[in-house]
Amino acid sequence: MNIVLMGCPGAGKGTQSAKLQDEFHLKHISTGDVLRAEIASGSALGKQIAALIDQGNLVPDELMISMLEKIVSTTQRGLIFDGFPRTVPQAQALDEMMTRLGRQISAVVMIDLPESEVVKRLSTRRLCKQCSKPAATATQATCECGGELYVRADDAPESVKHRLEVYRAQTLPVKDYYQSSGKYVEINGNQMPDQVFEDIKTVLEKVK
Ligand code: AMP
Repeated sequence: MNIVLMGCPGAGKGTQSAKLQDEFHLKHISTGDVLRAEIASGSALGKQIAALIDQGNLVPDELMISMLEKIVSTTQRGLIFDGFPRTVPQAQALDEMMTRLGRQISAVVMIDLPESEVVKRLSTRRLCKQCSKPAATATQATCECGGELYVRADDAPESVKHRLEVYRAQTLPVKDYYQSSGKYVEINGNQMPDQVFEDIKTVLEKVK
């Protein structure tokens, strides 16, 4: 089973991917995490990527597609694509790549969340440097795994505003791209994470 998980920034893609990975024994590919790892390596490429991400802009399609192909072609397990595709050319490249590798997308799950909720969520979000999961409470000093918590530079209000504009302009057309495929399904993301997970699970049980 290979799942594309879509949703605006802060919709809960990372949280749900972690749960789905365990439930369905899939490999979670977060392109945001892949890019942040490149930045953390201190490479010249990482510096260029940081400049784009911190402003809330997308990394060029060509680079994203080649980064993703390396991971997909070396992983036999079912995959969860979290944060990819973010543009129509990326969606087309993913289809082409999957066909070439003899694989297919089983479902495209959109986690739907109103923008007012996005701004609220991201303005208080703290993530773990070690496991990437968000802190469960506003007051805890460290993550449950012991990792240090931090605030993403691109969760600053100006960046979030721009990320939402980019999402509307470049990523929402991906929804149209998938809607006619018969594999597209929308889930209400404005619920407790466990309920969102139950809803996604119900959908995925049918395509397993
Ligand atoms: P995320 O962790 O998914 O919120 O991604 C953080 C940032 O990484 C995004 O705001 C983009 O700048 C960049 N990014 C992640 N995935 C992609 C992608 N598929 N295409 C272009 N840029 C991406």
